[in-house]
Amino acid sequence: MKFRKLAFAGALCLAGMMYFAGGIAGGNQALAAERDRSCRDHRIYYAVIDVGHAAREYGTTAWNGGHEYDYNLRFAKELAARLEEEQIPYIFSGFHAGKNTLDDRITRTGPQAIFISIHHDAVQPRYCTLNDNPCESDYAAGYSLFVSSENPYYQESLGLAREIAAGLRDAGLKNSAHHAENIPGEGREWLDKNGVFRYDGLRVLRKAHGPAVLMEVGVIVNPRDEAFVSVKKNRRRYIDAVVAALKRHIRLERRN
Ligand SMILES: [Zn+2]
Repeated sequence: MKFRKLAFAGALCLAGMMYFAGGIAGGNQALAAERDRSCRDHRIYYAVIDVGHAAREYGTTAWNGGHEYDYNLRFAKELAARLEEEQIPYIFSGFHAGKNTLDDRITRTGPQAIFISIHHDAVQPRYCTLNDNPCESDYAAGYSLFVSSENPYYQESLGLAREIAAGLRDAGLKNSAHHAENIPGEGREWLDKNGVFRYDGLRVLRKAHGPAVLMEVGVIVNPRDEAFVSVKKNRRRYIDAVVAALKRHIRLERRN
């Protein structure tokens, strides 16, 4: 875990949550009071950057045999570096490659944090027409953003996803439409023309205790899109859009 600023009420809220989630009764009264205050004031204080999947259960296999987790981790690290530059508070979730459980990840969520889960995308097997093992396809390319209407902060989540999507589009990036296709395994509802979809079943979004967005950065079974997201200056365009949206929502305070 990493706190950008220690004198940071929202972080104390989270620290308190984790402290009590650990089954320890009592605790420091000053910490508890600060936590309660910051938890109640309905402000967002920091971002939780979630690295999708884990080292062993790594998610999608890229067209070239690469592991989605490694793509997610690289993107998350660069996003974190930008947050450092901007002095936006954040913590990581899912940074321990061998111990990246859902329960562990959602413990870090809360109403005072924006949770962003970083992923890289695939296509349905029917479109693996260039190679089927591992899947290689030129069918779909681009980013997708997902929110769950079962998240308790659905409207906030959707608003944030729309802002990120608008920023991505303004940066000249394109979204994948594959997830809206009316085929088994897809058929997600379009919520925003810039590439925001409703996917109620995504557990990490549904179970999060605060606003949550899942971002598929690019389609890594597509050699062209995989090459695009593998260029650092291209990733910077995605990251800038995410950071701009976070900056509008995260309350920065106590700056010296
Ligand atoms: Zn994934």
